Amino acid sequence: MNLETLTCNSCGAPLEVPESANFVTCNHCSTRLAIRRTDSTSFTEELEQLSGQTEELAEQVRVLTRQNQVTELDRNWDRQKERYMVTNKHGVKRLPTETGALFGGIVGGVIGIVAVGFGASGGGAGPVVVGLAMIVFALFAGFSGYAKARNYRSAQRRYRRRRTELASGLADSGTSSQEYLRTLSDVPTPDEYLRDLEIE
Ligand SMILES: [Zn+2]
Repeated sequence: MNLETLTCNSCGAPLEVPESANFVTCNHCSTRLAIRRTDSTSFTEELEQLSGQTEELAEQVRVLTRQNQVTELDRNWDRQKERYMVTNKHGVKRLPTETGALFGGIVGGVIGIVAVGFGASGGGAGPVVVGLAMIVFALFAGFSGYAKARNYRSAQRRYRRRRTELASGLADSGTSSQEYLRTLSDVPTPDEYLRDLEIE
């Protein structure tokens, strides 16, 4: 069996190890060592140090996984939000609001009532029919818009809660994730982004 001479990476003592060995325990300081071989040289590395590196790697993987989950959640939410969008009379898509739905319903209803009143006071049957149709439509649109807005709001709450959970999971895991968390709070959620767009 060919022996090679290495030095202990921990205490510097010389070690005689078989060329086929991958691990050795130092006779002098009892440190457990891994034997590393490159084309030009061989050296030893402490196993504790290695396991530290492995933990660090595992931690990075955990953080990356969380980050991916947040990204995936945002992407899903963007898609989901599309379903709640309503198109206004200018053909512009926007997210529904309860007040918007109520306001639209009330305005439509009032116009309908005025039309019915006009028809009843001598305007004829036409305005009465149109007015009644408007009232029915305003009621329907108001209620369904209101329900849609409420559903959207609760879906948004679920999304935000999940995002906070994921972000706090990141906070639990090390410093690199703390940094990530900082970037998370700097980056607007898709909602905030959309709201900023609306204001401008
Ligand atoms: Zn040693």
